[in-house]
Amino acid sequence: MRTVNLASGSKGNCTYIESREAKILIDEGLSYTSIKQRLKQINVEPYEIDAILLTHEHTDHIGGIANFLKRNKTTKVYIPLFVKTYDIPGINALPYNQIEWYKTSDFFIKDMTISSFLLPHDSKFCVGYSVYFDNKKVSIATDLGFVSDKVLSYIAGSNVLFLESNHDENLLLKNPKYPAKTKKRILSNEGHLSNITCGHTLAKLVKTGVVQVVLSHLSQENNTPMLAYSTVKNILARYGIIEGKNICVDVAYQDKVGTIFNF
Ligand SMILES: [Zn+2]
Ligand SMILES: [Zn+2]
Repeated sequence: MRTVNLASGSKGNCTYIESREAKILIDEGLSYTSIKQRLKQINVEPYEIDAILLTHEHTDHIGGIANFLKRNKTTKVYIPLFVKTYDIPGINALPYNQIEWYKTSDFFIKDMTISSFLLPHDSKFCVGYSVYFDNKKVSIATDLGFVSDKVLSYIAGSNVLFLESNHDENLLLKNPKYPAKTKKRILSNEGHLSNITCGHTLAKLVKTGVVQVVLSHLSQENNTPMLAYSTVKNILARYGIIEGKNICVDVAYQDKVGTIFNF
C-alpha cells in the first residue's frame, strides 16, 4: 500500500491511498489546480483516481469534488447511504451517475475493502474510514470532538493512522480573533480533537499495534506542527512510550504534500 496526505486543515483536506489496483482519495477540498499539482508530485494523474470517499459536508472536505468529477468522468464519489441529499450543499452540482451511495459496513473498490464509522462532529453527518488491502490497514479519523471506544476499535491496529490533532487548548482559549461561541464549539464533544486528547488516544492505540501516526487537521491559528508533535510526544512519554521507537509521529500540512508511506 501507499498513502500520503496531500493537504490537511480548515483550508482544504485530501488524503491519497493506493493498493495494487485501486487509487482513491479521502475528501477533496482543494481547487482543481492544486489537487492536480499535488497528485503530480506523487506521479498520479487525476484520471487514475477511482474514487473519492466523502467524510462530511464541510467545505474544506467537499469543496473540490464537483470540479474533480466533471473533469474525470470515471471517478466516483462515495457517500454513506443514510445521508439525506438535502444535507449535502451543492449536491446538484455533482454528476448524478458518478455518485455511489454505500452501506457503512464493508464495501469494496477494486481490491480494497473499506469500512466507515460515525464520528461526533457538528456537521449533518461525519464518518471516518479504514481501508484494507493485503492484511494492511490505513485509517483516517479527523473532525471529531471526542474518541469513543467504538471509534478506537475501528482505528485499532492501523499500519498508518491519520488522527486529528487540531489545536492547543491554551492557544485557542487565548486567541482574541475567535468569539467565545466558536471556542466553545471547537472544544465541545462535537468539535475538534486537541493535541492533548490526541496524545492520550495514541497511548491507547500503541497497544493495538499502531506504529505510524500522522497528526492531522492542525489549526493554523491555534497550533503549530512543532507544538502538536512535542505535546503528543511528551504525553506518550508519560506512558513510557517512546516516539521513534514504539510509534513514529509525523505531521500533515495544509500547504504541502506530506510524507509518503509505502508498506
Ligand atoms: Zn475539516
Ligand atoms: Zn468539519
